[in-house]
Amino acid sequence: MSIDFQPSERVESFRSRIEAFVAEHLMPIENDTSVRDDHENIRLDLLDELRAKARAQNLWCLQLPEQFGGQGLDKVGMTVCYEEMNRSIFGPAVFNSAAPDDGNMQVLAKVARPDQQERWLKPIVEGKVRSSIVMTEPMPGAGSDPSVMRTTATRQGDKWVIHGRKWFITGAGVAQHFILLARTSDDKRKGITAFLFDRDQPGWEIVRRIPIMGPEEHGGHCELLFDGLEIPDENRLMGVGDGLKMAQIRLGPARLTHCMRWLGLARRSLEIASAYVAERESFGSKLAAHEGVQWMMGEAAMQVQMARLLTLHAAWKLDQGDRAKSEISMAKTAVADALHKAVDTAIQLNGARGYSKDTVLEWIYRYARQARLVDGASEVHKMVLSSAVLAEGAAFWRWGA
Ligand SMILES: Cc1cc2nc3c(=O)[nH]c(=O)nc-3n(C[C@H](O)[C@H](O)[C@H](O)COP(=O)(O)OP(=O)(O)OC[C@H]3O[C@@H](n4cnc5c(N)ncnc54)[C@H](O)[C@@H]3O)c2cc1C
Repeated sequence: MSIDFQPSERVESFRSRIEAFVAEHLMPIENDTSVRDDHENIRLDLLDELRAKARAQNLWCLQLPEQFGGQGLDKVGMTVCYEEMNRSIFGPAVFNSAAPDDGNMQVLAKVARPDQQERWLKPIVEGKVRSSIVMTEPMPGAGSDPSVMRTTATRQGDKWVIHGRKWFITGAGVAQHFILLARTSDDKRKGITAFLFDRDQPGWEIVRRIPIMGPEEHGGHCELLFDGLEIPDENRLMGVGDGLKMAQIRLGPARLTHCMRWLGLARRSLEIASAYVAERESFGSKLAAHEGVQWMMGEAAMQVQMARLLTLHAAWKLDQGDRAKSEISMAKTAVADALHKAVDTAIQLNGARGYSKDTVLEWIYRYARQARLVDGASEVHKMVLSSAVLAEGAAFWRWGA
């Protein structure tokens, strides 16, 4: 099977329509602080209006199979379109492709029973509710290593009772549907199970919205306390003990969709830098004519393109039915670094303007810092890669699929 990253006519049609939508509706409002909420994201009422426009233009949930109301793009097609969306800081939420709904929808479409899809997935696809994935715990609980999870689900007849504490749960402040991971036994591989619960169920609360350094997703990053939440067994996702399996199915593609979006932010940063250095006169010529500036732009563009190729390759492997574990780890680490490089370069080349709030660069700079942490810290992905290199030997370097 040969690798071909050339977008099909259909994908190119989506891409160009997203580009036009972003240029017409999103970029002109990004720097207007009145369109933002208290956490530097787009106001929810305005988001609803823009989402309605995106839906009317069929630019909605491109990532989901058509049977669930999506457009059925493959992962390579998604790479092309997600990058285009996130050239605006508000893009992914408008097209219903933002984390964590994006990953939650994709995993529910893959592993939930049809009745669960009707109850838990459909309202997210329709944009009626938002969702969260609830895994990480405060020390000494689950973080990089989920095997030390302390939140428990204890079976009582046909229900499960949850006790424990979670934190950094993105979107929990506005989410209605939650995917929760909890310990159901001490078995090393099969000790964790996934569940679905609704915001309106009693037995849990949001203790606090954790203040962070960057702009926030809607609903923030919250700390949750579970003190007797009861979940009927019918709301268990997959089998008892399949929690880590569910997490792997969700997290692989979700990590890659982070990469696709972050590439858009990296590109946008370099676009802002390009526009400035093409105009700004310094020491008798345009900034762009100075060799030092050219090296900075060239280096950053090269890193973004390398990270983009790694993302496309991982996407292509997923499209072939491969888990692409190593490829996703490489892409996740490289894109996080390329985004930092791109936005840092852009701020530097914009001089004082880069440090101001007159462009979106400072927003992207603060947002970017999470990229080396979320969905697996870079060091953990390198550990995974190292294990693969050592275990696979020459096979790690094989050509082709
Ligand atoms: C903005 C943001 C949003 C998030 N959203 C969610 C969410 O929606 N749901 C959710 O469940 N979680 C979420 N998280 C949590 C995130 O997934 C965890 O932060 C991540 O898995 C790391 O876990 P930890 O913070 O406990 O770090 P730790 O496990 O304590 O690790 C700390 C650091 O140690 C290093 N390290 C760890 N293990 C190794 C190793 N084996 N080798 C070398 N170095 C290592 C890394 O540098 C790592 O950053 C979010 C986090 C952030 C910052």
